[in-house]
Amino acid sequence: MAAEIKDSLPPGVDPNNTMKLQLLRKIDSCEDNINMAILIQNEDGLISISDDKTIRIWLKRDTGQYWPSICHNLPAIPTCLEYEHVTHKLFIGMENGTISEYKVSEDYNSLKQERDYLAHILKVTSVQFSPTDNWLLSCSRDKNFQWHCTQTGRRLGGYVTNAWCTCLQYDTQAKYAFVGDYAGNVSLLKLTSNEGLELVTTLKGHSGSICCLCWDSQKQLLFSGSFDQSIVVWDIGGQKGTAFELQGHREKVQSVVYIPESKVLVSASDDCTIGIWDLKVQRNECPEWAESNDCQKCDRPFFWNFKSMWQQKTLGGRQHHCRKCGLAFCDSCSTRRTTIPLLGFEYAVRICDRCDESISDSDKKPLAFFHDSRHHIVNASYSSRTKMLLTVGKDKIMKLWDMKPVLN
Ligand SMILES: [Zn+2]
Ligand SMILES: [Zn+2]
Repeated sequence: MAAEIKDSLPPGVDPNNTMKLQLLRKIDSCEDNINMAILIQNEDGLISISDDKTIRIWLKRDTGQYWPSICHNLPAIPTCLEYEHVTHKLFIGMENGTISEYKVSEDYNSLKQERDYLAHILKVTSVQFSPTDNWLLSCSRDKNFQWHCTQTGRRLGGYVTNAWCTCLQYDTQAKYAFVGDYAGNVSLLKLTSNEGLELVTTLKGHSGSICCLCWDSQKQLLFSGSFDQSIVVWDIGGQKGTAFELQGHREKVQSVVYIPESKVLVSASDDCTIGIWDLKVQRNECPEWAESNDCQKCDRPFFWNFKSMWQQKTLGGRQHHCRKCGLAFCDSCSTRRTTIPLLGFEYAVRICDRCDESISDSDKKPLAFFHDSRHHIVNASYSSRTKMLLTVGKDKIMKLWDMKPVLN
């Protein structure tokens, strides 16, 4: 019997739903875990932070290889970073709760420390810098969101959430801060220079902790990726409270990047895939799940409905929901499975017989593709100038991908 060689796709990835991205470069000279890395927008280079307590700035050399121009030692393990390319300000959040501010030289060959912010008492999970306001925003495992002035170093305010804070985004125009937390909620805070900050609303839609956020200021869309493997697109600008889900990953979603000019959302996951979601197509919200004591097709009672079970002399069944109509069915009335890309389901989900007949083959056409990155992704960063995506893996390797083919 001939040996069968299969391409090793991660479990759960539909081979018909894949797309090849071109790997441009692999940077595999790190010996410790890389906690985060970002592409520098106006230079062929990147900044990485790792468990060996260093910041490295890597520049592309004439050979095409990336080599560090800076390797700077820190007093504690760095956990998150923010770099602003006009002011060359670099902020490093650390495990001990401190944020260090640096100035990177024009030639990217040296770093100067400017200030330390004793912002938190536990691991800093996210930092954002607003050069127009001169504000430094941060959040931490200590459940605090903190707000500092980068001109004076003074603390301007803060907010305590109910769970560990995990990620942060900021809208410069409306001065909204979005803080994701371990309980799966996103707090929307309004910051005002003279009045402090207030909680506007809390976005609840995930069943697992929030791993990453991305804000598109043009369309006012917030994207949240979660431990629950889903992404929620919150249409804040639409003012109708619409939020739809994207389901395609099989592990937690570690990074989401929206590319507005192509209307493409890129997601990177612990399941080793990079998801490319076409958002030119308007998706619909999933229906609410119906509450019922009996199957809404054959009337068979569900297992808690003792009265009907007695009357019908039958055993109760488990309740299932059709993902398209949201009605409650017993298992034998909802045996079919299909993808429903217009509702965000890129893998096959439970559906009732009637809905299955109403879905055409063209409705099942994928609206997302998944590329096997061959490493468990920790974080991803995108450069709109070079159209490259950087992925950082648990394997201590950084990979650069050419995104141009999927953006056309
Ligand atoms: Zn039934
Ligand atoms: Zn249905």
